[in-house]
Amino acid sequence: MRDDIFEIVRSIKEMGFKIGLITNGNYLNEKIEITKHLDFLIISMDAVGEKLDTLRGITGLYERISDAVNKIKNKRLMINTVVSNFSYPDCLKVADFAKKYNCIIFYEYPIGKGLLEKKISFAAFMQILKLKDRGYPIGNSRQYLISAAREDFEYKCRVRDFSITVFNDGSIRNCITGEFIGNTYFEDLRLILMRKEFQNLRKISHQCNRCTDSGAYESSRTIRLKFDAVFNSLRLFWGKT
Ligand code: SF4
Repeated sequence: MRDDIFEIVRSIKEMGFKIGLITNGNYLNEKIEITKHLDFLIISMDAVGEKLDTLRGITGLYERISDAVNKIKNKRLMINTVVSNFSYPDCLKVADFAKKYNCIIFYEYPIGKGLLEKKISFAAFMQILKLKDRGYPIGNSRQYLISAAREDFEYKCRVRDFSITVFNDGSIRNCITGEFIGNTYFEDLRLILMRKEFQNLRKISHQCNRCTDSGAYESSRTIRLKFDAVFNSLRLFWGKT
């Protein structure tokens, strides 16, 4: 949506960072050139066809995404799909889309709204596990899918050891309490990260498992050298699922 997206991407690359973009795909076709400068691209899509258009409230979105994906060459292309009472069972068809277009798909347990009834959620994630076993390019580890099915995310967060979230107003906040820690527009990032409020967050975060997304779950378990997570990460790194 930003007119200066090319400039933003170019500056980040010039600073030597890897860069990925997460998009609903609506403007992807118009700005397809941007994908040449990205290291990876993540498209959020919870269904296919008209169902996706309805969920997003955007006519022709699915067609536009399919068109754009066809044009993207040699890119690490991923799809993010939330399994919720808005998207299930249509979300299972996104695995076929991923297979067809050579993408890796990550299924996500919903955060906040859209939670499925316990029994249906169990059935949904077990179906996804079966698809993975049948060779669909599903990037989640088996353990994540089983945890999501059981609604029991047993892990200790390590996300704050290697990652920060900067909000669009430049602020960095305590992800557990929401308290303000600093603002990257006005302060040196290194100083913010050395602040006792951030260091305290790092310590208490090791006991937290509030986030049910696969990113927090898989990365925390990989850092803690849990076999299944490490194995899954290595497979993803080598381009296998
Ligand atoms: S699991 Fe807890 S500590 Fe980790 S990112 Fe989520 S809210 Fe923050």
